[in-house]
Amino acid sequence: MRFQYAADLPITSARAKILDMVRRHPVVVLVGETGSGKTTQVPQYLAQELLGAAGSSGRPPVIGVTQPRRVAAITVAKRVAQECGVELGQEVGYAVRFDDQTSTKTIIKYMTDGILLREILTDTTLSKYAYIVLDEAHERTLHGDVLFGLLKQLRQRRPTLKVIVMSATLDAESFSRFWDNAPMGYVAGRQFPVTVFYTVEPQLDYVDAAITTVLQLHLQEGPLQGDMLVFLTGQEEIDDAKKILEERSRRLSATAMKLKVVPLYAALPPDKQMLAFAPAPPGCRKVILSTNIAETSVTINGIRYVIDTGMVKAREYNPNTGLDALRAVPVSRAQARQRAGRAGREAAGKCFRLYTEDSFDTFAQHTTPEIQRVNLSSVVLHLKHLEVHDILQFPFMDPPSKDALVQSLETLLALGAVDADLRITPLGTAMALFPLDPMHAKALINSFLPPFRCGRAMAVIIAMLSVENVFFTPKSEQETADAKRRIFASPYGDQLTLLNVYKAYQKAKKRRGQKEWAQEHYINLRSMASVDDVLGQLLELEPAARAIMQKDAGAGAAAANPTALAGVELDSEDLQVRKCLTSACFLNAAVWSPGDRCYRTAVGRNTVHVHPGSVLFQSQKPNCVIYNSVVHTTQRFMRFVLEVEERWVLEYGRYVYRAPDSQPKKKRPATTAEGSSFLGGVKRARGEAPP
Ligand code: ADP
Ligand code: MG
Repeated sequence: MRFQYAADLPITSARAKILDMVRRHPVVVLVGETGSGKTTQVPQYLAQELLGAAGSSGRPPVIGVTQPRRVAAITVAKRVAQECGVELGQEVGYAVRFDDQTSTKTIIKYMTDGILLREILTDTTLSKYAYIVLDEAHERTLHGDVLFGLLKQLRQRRPTLKVIVMSATLDAESFSRFWDNAPMGYVAGRQFPVTVFYTVEPQLDYVDAAITTVLQLHLQEGPLQGDMLVFLTGQEEIDDAKKILEERSRRLSATAMKLKVVPLYAALPPDKQMLAFAPAPPGCRKVILSTNIAETSVTINGIRYVIDTGMVKAREYNPNTGLDALRAVPVSRAQARQRAGRAGREAAGKCFRLYTEDSFDTFAQHTTPEIQRVNLSSVVLHLKHLEVHDILQFPFMDPPSKDALVQSLETLLALGAVDADLRITPLGTAMALFPLDPMHAKALINSFLPPFRCGRAMAVIIAMLSVENVFFTPKSEQETADAKRRIFASPYGDQLTLLNVYKAYQKAKKRRGQKEWAQEHYINLRSMASVDDVLGQLLELEPAARAIMQKDAGAGAAAANPTALAGVELDSEDLQVRKCLTSACFLNAAVWSPGDRCYRTAVGRNTVHVHPGSVLFQSQKPNCVIYNSVVHTTQRFMRFVLEVEERWVLEYGRYVYRAPDSQPKKKRPATTAEGSSFLGGVKRARGEAPP
């Protein structure tokens, strides 16, 4: 491994100082401008330190570097492997959900927060790591915040573990305070002035405004003025904008410089992600259309113009409605400043904000930590599995609201993952094995147990749901694509449609014709390969989960398992799948309300609609459906919708809903006082809460 790479970066001169701090203190907070070299260089410094230490034999200790985003983990690992002159996956590697590129030789391991969280499940002291670098701490993601608390506790059991917290220059003192006043090191950045422009009028369509601005700037600004970075909110938006930009730039006069449009978002295959970092071909201006990832996680050289739509996609849990929805929301002022800063790294730059100065003033000062605005059931299950019993006492940097914690416990209780004493059940332990949302984990476990027995089909559906963009739909060919894919449509809805797609894919694969098949049906073949990969990993975890469930059944506990519904007859696969999904997703049920021609969620009675991308969008609306998730754009839309029977929902969810013959009316189960064991357990949790 070659460690002599001498980056010409602001951090280079701070190397000795940083290493000295790390030697003398167990926890260090490093703060630096974005692009100064923290993420790519600090792990290399630590690796040199490790390799310089007495020639140890056997497996070298590992430097674990966590990233909130998978794109960052992957692209940074590639960059660092390049800088070190090693093959990716050897001394330098990465691990993200369902994709592990590390080996026994790996010394620097970039990974998502979620991966390290899962590793704590099997190695509770993280024994193979010498250093844990918590990068991008300012992002305050849900997993990052949970890691903070866990590592703080873990360091008491393993004081030799060194922790380095790295953050952009946002509220860094709070990290030092959390880590018992850990010393802070500052890395100065190179920041040139950035002139900020606002729109005079509010923009109705920020995507359209962004496209227009790019083209205007491209024509107005001289040819050698650098590349552009546009912040949009998600894949669909970016793909659409790319298409329109390419079309419109083709119509520019022949003398104009060419535009090279490069997308950057999480669902892009890794080799496509790297294109954003490649310099534009001569005579070309590069325009990067990126999600929030380019705000602080990765740095792209050559940017002189930033176009900021002022929007970001965020997951938001609304405790009043009980809905966890993904939606585009305004950024905070701190984020807008970070974005603008991206234009001034190499020379003076310009930032065009596609909103008025008045609206900037209405943005929040800082982004609320994710832990205070999302559904916590997955994280709470994880903590329960780690034997953190009193969640309310866990050292959160900014604790989530008590209501949100109680609601997540209610969900776990309804799913049977915890018992009335809020202890994790065998089912909960089996669920925690899977890197899945608790509902999906439960559906998968139920699927290989009687009476459902539809294991492979359910694993396929969950793998298909875990992978983004299986369908590939160019806007101009929407109708053709829809028509071609109609053959897969299940009258019951999207989950079974996905199953049909997978079955057709397998058939095509058998006759080695998957490429043509994918092209003909507008299916993203690479996504299908990921589905195979995820499926393999889910099936690999199955025996362990099965063993836990069998041991439990042997102990005579199966009768108490609310999912072991008697009288479900073995039937067609479709029926089994629908029942099995209902047995786990009964909290995500919605009932057609003929009066107001919309669906109402069973929990909370919220108005929701079928997403236009669903196969049930056009069809006659079934009385009762379950959905996979909700996206909130102009309205709340259910994504991935499946027709089920209301009586199944009431039966499987009988701890939440009223007796099978009455309508579920309650807002949230625990807000009405009913003396079931379900509520009893939660009440106790409330009683234990600190004032
Ligand atoms: P920080 O973590 O402080 O924001 P990074 O370590 O991510 O900074 O980036 C340091 C520098 O490394 C960037 O300014 C950029 O010039 C360079 N760099 C990072 N990733 C790549 C890449 N994939 N390709 C080319 N240059 C890169
Ligand atoms: Mg960084």
